[in-house]
Amino acid sequence: MTERFADPGVSLYQLATHFIVHCPKCDGKAQVLPFNGSWKLTCSKCFHVELPGHWYGSMTAYVSVKCRVCHQSISRSAEVTGEWAKLKVKCDECGDECEYEAKISRHYMHHGLMCDSVFGLPLWLQKEFRSDLFWAFNYEHLSLLEQYVRAKLRERGIENKGSKNSLMFSRLPTFITSAKNRGEILKLIEELSVK
Ligand SMILES: [Zn+2]
Ligand SMILES: [Zn+2]
Repeated sequence: MTERFADPGVSLYQLATHFIVHCPKCDGKAQVLPFNGSWKLTCSKCFHVELPGHWYGSMTAYVSVKCRVCHQSISRSAEVTGEWAKLKVKCDECGDECEYEAKISRHYMHHGLMCDSVFGLPLWLQKEFRSDLFWAFNYEHLSLLEQYVRAKLRERGIENKGSKNSLMFSRLPTFITSAKNRGEILKLIEELSVK
């Protein structure tokens, strides 16, 4: 049973087949599923349906240019809330102020919560664990994590250096794989598993 978790091909990307998130309208449980080569959000509580387009998550606008007046290198980054394409930058050298085209980066963390990569909405399956954040994209991902932790529990004390299994584990945050947390992590997973 633990064999399939030894597959080093299982990456986070492959686990992101769909997402359980907080509905942007009612905060209820919504699913983001593949749809026509893209994605579609459907809320099971208010039945809100949404196609990708708006990013609810956190974004940073970044500008790195040469001042249009004195050609001094200037840069600025700022947290943005809308789809800003421009950012006002003031040159330290000549004092010229101008809006420059900004590069927008989307972030998966927003207000300390992990978000999906389509809408930037907070994942449903997440919980703080001391100073860390435990999260899963969906119930399959959660169940995989549970099986990892259980498998590791059985292997405790057994040296498996270089095995594929330990390679897989090496990608997980240490608070999840740490032996002393396992009991509590399993309890946390159990709480999150309640649908
Ligand atoms: Zn809703
Ligand atoms: Zn300047």
